[in-house]
Amino acid sequence: MWRIHTFIFVSLLGLAMAQAQPLSLGPHEHGVGQFNIVLDGNELLLELLAPAGDIAGFEHMPVTVKERMTVWRVAAQLAKAERQFALPEAAGCALVKAEVDGEQMEAIGHKHEDGHDHGHAAPAQGMHAHAEYHAVYRYTCARPQALGQIDVKLFGQYKALGKLRWQAVLSDGARAGEVTGNAPRVVLR
Ligand SMILES: [Zn+2]
Repeated sequence: MWRIHTFIFVSLLGLAMAQAQPLSLGPHEHGVGQFNIVLDGNELLLELLAPAGDIAGFEHMPVTVKERMTVWRVAAQLAKAERQFALPEAAGCALVKAEVDGEQMEAIGHKHEDGHDHGHAAPAQGMHAHAEYHAVYRYTCARPQALGQIDVKLFGQYKALGKLRWQAVLSDGARAGEVTGNAPRVVLR
């Protein structure tokens, strides 16, 4: 279901923006994540993609007990939407579901609900194997017209994450921008 939303997002964005950016293609930029926002009627979808190195502190597959525990802890933390974002109270948004996945979670036995597999190709020898965390948060908002901004709280927790590039699809068009620890507010209208 989430992937379908992502697909819709890309399609909408393609229509709405002349220079649509791909969601995630090729190696990511360390310290930079991607944040996608879709508001469709009362449904709000937030999608976060971030380098594993910025979230878990390492990007290789977890091997030691300590690393595996770190992945569990990080995944549980990311799933707590209220720790990652602050939405305007006036919008009356309630979290319906949060889902987190990524290569490191697959490595410790995480199964996707929709049965798909990431199918990452093994990196060529000597190359850095990139891994990411992917989190999707779905809300219903009683007063979506009051969703004027989203404050991103990730930077306080994940110090290596310096910037999120965001893209939003709203009923009246698309917006895009960047947020950082010093300027963590996504202004939607
Ligand atoms: Zn990487």
